[in-house]
Amino acid sequence: MLITQAGLTHLTPNELRPEFQEYNNLWQLENKRHGKLSEIFKKLYPSINDGLENFWYQSMMYWMKIDEDKSLTESCLHDWKRYEFFKIGTHYRCEKCRLIITELFYKNNFA
Ligand SMILES: [Zn+2]
Repeated sequence: MLITQAGLTHLTPNELRPEFQEYNNLWQLENKRHGKLSEIFKKLYPSINDGLENFWYQSMMYWMKIDEDKSLTESCLHDWKRYEFFKIGTHYRCEKCRLIITELFYKNNFA
């Protein structure tokens, strides 16, 4: 019911039960619907949302720092490709060894 009210599925409540058995059809969210679900979660649980975003950001920065150190010692002819990450912004990932580094580190060491 909540899923239908939030507009996350095109199904009406009467149509929901038969479709529920087709798991993928019901729960496969489009990007627009995923964005709406995120907005609802943010309104319902702002502290949990902030905590999860902060944890994700801190984790990414931690692992990128390790990857930056490794990128200078790995025996890889890095093939850096530019990406955008939520909250992180521009960063680079090596298509060969899959290390991820910040834009600043890329400019200081590989550009
Ligand atoms: Zn590499």
